[in-house]
Amino acid sequence: MQIYPHTIDEPDEYPTRKDFFVSEAGEEKGFGLFTRRPFEKGEQMARFTGEVLDEVKLHTLQINPTKHLHDPYFVGYLLHSCAPNVLLDMETLTMWAIKDIASGEALTMDYTSTEDILYRQFPCACQAEECRQWITGQVEAINEEGHIYLKKFKATTQNMQASIHG
Ligand SMILES: [Zn+2]
Repeated sequence: MQIYPHTIDEPDEYPTRKDFFVSEAGEEKGFGLFTRRPFEKGEQMARFTGEVLDEVKLHTLQINPTKHLHDPYFVGYLLHSCAPNVLLDMETLTMWAIKDIASGEALTMDYTSTEDILYRQFPCACQAEECRQWITGQVEAINEEGHIYLKKFKATTQNMQASIHG
């Protein structure tokens, strides 16, 4: 059964409920997109589609600086990670596995990889070693809230290290 409720031209390449499901990902994260089967690194996982808008919304993905894809059924549910397992090609509108992915795993992308400017910047707790802690778009500076957050985060980390070593 197709995930998209509307009719699409070549349904074979679009996501089905056999391969993917949407579910709650945790209290603070909201809903996320999960797999029902394993995918191999380098595999094209699905095509996606949506409505092309000329503004950034909460669940849009940037096609180019003036066009944004609104897909509230599939890729709109991708959560952010600084070490994602999925990459979106916004030219061909295809989703790719960039790691081996197990059945039942949450799919994540790096929001900065597609967005010049985010709908809103946010703190990240993806727990990746390379986590940037505060997520922005590609061309925007860290906002005031971000500077405050990062300062606090740094202080907490230093205190934790001091208590470990002291
Ligand atoms: Zn992160």
